[in-house]
Amino acid sequence: MSDCLFCKIIDKKINADIVYEDERAIAFRDIKPAAPTHVLVIPRVHITSLNDVLAEHEADVGYLFRVAAQVAEREGIAQSGYRTVFNCGPDAGQSVFHIHLHVVGGKPLGWPPFPR
Ligand code: 5GP
Ligand code: ZN
Repeated sequence: MSDCLFCKIIDKKINADIVYEDERAIAFRDIKPAAPTHVLVIPRVHITSLNDVLAEHEADVGYLFRVAAQVAEREGIAQSGYRTVFNCGPDAGQSVFHIHLHVVGGKPLGWPPFPR
C-alpha cells in the first residue's frame, strides 16, 4: 500500500527506530511513547485492522505475539510485565490503518486501560 505510513516504514521510505525485523514482521519504537517501553509490532503484509484479518493472515497475525514476547525479553520487561493491544476502529482510537500490536511496559500500567 503506497499511501500507508507503516508500509513506508517497512520499505524504509520513512525512518523508524527498528528494534526487530525479519521476513514476516518488524517492530519499532512508537514515536509518542505511552510508557517507558512502547513498541509497535507489524506484519510486512498490509492488513488494515483486526476487522480485516482473513484466514490467510492467521499465521502472520499470530506471529506478532511471538515477536512481542521477544521484544519484551530484549527490552527487559518480560518478567516485570507488559501489555499487548490492538486498537480497532474509532472507539479504540485506531489512527494508523496498518494493523499493529502495541507492546507497552516498563511501569505499572493499571487496569482498565480506559476511563470508566
Ligand atoms: P493506534 O492509535 O492506531 O492504535 O496507534 C498508532 C500509533 O502509531 C500511535 O501510538 C502513534 O504514536 C504511532 N505513530 C504514528 N505515526 C508514527 C510514526 O511516523 N512513527 C512511529 N514510530 N510511530 C508512529
Ligand atoms: Zn500498510
